[in-house]
Amino acid sequence: MRNAVLPHLLYGSLTLGVYTALLHIYFHHNHESSGQKKTQQPTSIWALHKKLQLQINHSSGQIPRQHVRAKIPSTYETKEQRPSVRLGREFNYTDRELLHGFLNYGFNIIISKHLGSERHVPDTRNKMCLQKHYPIHLPTASVIICFHNEELNALLRTVSSVMNLTPHKILKEIILVDDMSDFGDLKEELDHHLENFRGKIKIIRNKKREGLIRARMIGAARASGDVLVFLDSHCEVNKVWLQPLLNAIAKNHKVVVCPIIDIINDMTLEYQPSPIVRGAFDWYLQFKWDNVFSYEMDGPEGPTGPIRSPAMAGGIFAINRHYFNEIGQYDKGMNLWGGENLELSLRIWMCGGQLVMLPCSRVGHLLRQRIMNQTEAVKAMNHNNLRLVHVWLDEYKEQFFLRRPHLKFIPYGNISERVELRKQLGCKSFQWYLDTVFPELEPVGGS
Ligand code: UDP
Ligand code: MN
Repeated sequence: MRNAVLPHLLYGSLTLGVYTALLHIYFHHNHESSGQKKTQQPTSIWALHKKLQLQINHSSGQIPRQHVRAKIPSTYETKEQRPSVRLGREFNYTDRELLHGFLNYGFNIIISKHLGSERHVPDTRNKMCLQKHYPIHLPTASVIICFHNEELNALLRTVSSVMNLTPHKILKEIILVDDMSDFGDLKEELDHHLENFRGKIKIIRNKKREGLIRARMIGAARASGDVLVFLDSHCEVNKVWLQPLLNAIAKNHKVVVCPIIDIINDMTLEYQPSPIVRGAFDWYLQFKWDNVFSYEMDGPEGPTGPIRSPAMAGGIFAINRHYFNEIGQYDKGMNLWGGENLELSLRIWMCGGQLVMLPCSRVGHLLRQRIMNQTEAVKAMNHNNLRLVHVWLDEYKEQFFLRRPHLKFIPYGNISERVELRKQLGCKSFQWYLDTVFPELEPVGGS
């Protein structure tokens, strides 16, 4: 329904705005291809990743050389990739389908359709990762993928990459949670495609839109694997992606692990390697990627060892299923999208766990453009951040309100359950977190 109505509305009354948006995409894309620095404020946490990549590419070597993003060697180019690169460069940027795709999905759906439900992606791991061996007996994983109005081929590539690149012995199941999508092809047509993977896939259809935070909890409640692995619905996993994650959790069930997030370009859909970075944030509670200290890579495993990370980026991580329940899952009072990644990160560190990135596990994530009105998303993000601030930041909540004074008197719902959870788990103070995990977040002067 929305599918049919939206284009008319947009093409009719918003032509000017839409073309401005397309021009934005066009220049944004070309700007980046030419490798210049971008000054525009990014609109999503993943875009911040993009920004950091640019900074790193142009930085004077704060990141060890081998971790600076490199051009993918031509030997990696596969048949499946080449047409996409060509298409991306020769595009007619006023194409109606391209416009429709960007507005509805945030990326180039012509190339996505062209690539179809399956493709090979380059192995972006450090060569040292190829020498690593993992035990035959590892815990099993339930992979949880929530989606709301995802482009069908992007979703299918997420599923097929997991099916193709995960030993079936350790893949207990894939749980898809349809968060009340209203795009027609995500119903029977999706079911039809999933027939190929019968036996491994469960699909749950939410009766109302829950937002990704509650949708993930719904998926987790139906999971039976030892470990929960959360992915977005526009990812492509890389070779031997799951074993490092499961192995780390098998050794310590209180370790929560993230892969390195490679980039799938929104215009060309090229799969591009990311440098090794850690997750951080500022006093606005905006997530950002940060340089990794060289001593983090001085251990016996060198650049392939775990990297402690103050925060996780978003929806791509693995956690022991019992531990996820033990530490209180997610805050179900949070809405739609945003803030849940930082809330979980603080909870993990402050309540006795650890959060690490594993450089030998890589998962590609499609960096989407957001050009539609985001009022609802911003409202949800503020609501979620306020809940986080009032439960976890102690006296440092003033640092947030100094920067966001208008949020000080906005209601944020009842947080008593989450405050009680913090007490029951015997969690440490935010001061402890600053002293021990993230001393770079300095309280004065801002960031
Ligand atoms: N999602 C969802 N319900 C929502 C919003 C998002 O199920 O109300 C899904 C979405 O389809 C995606 C994941 O949650 O698979 C993360 O959302 P998104 O990719 O927009 O977040 P980002 O990557 O920008 O952090
Ligand atoms: Mn995403």
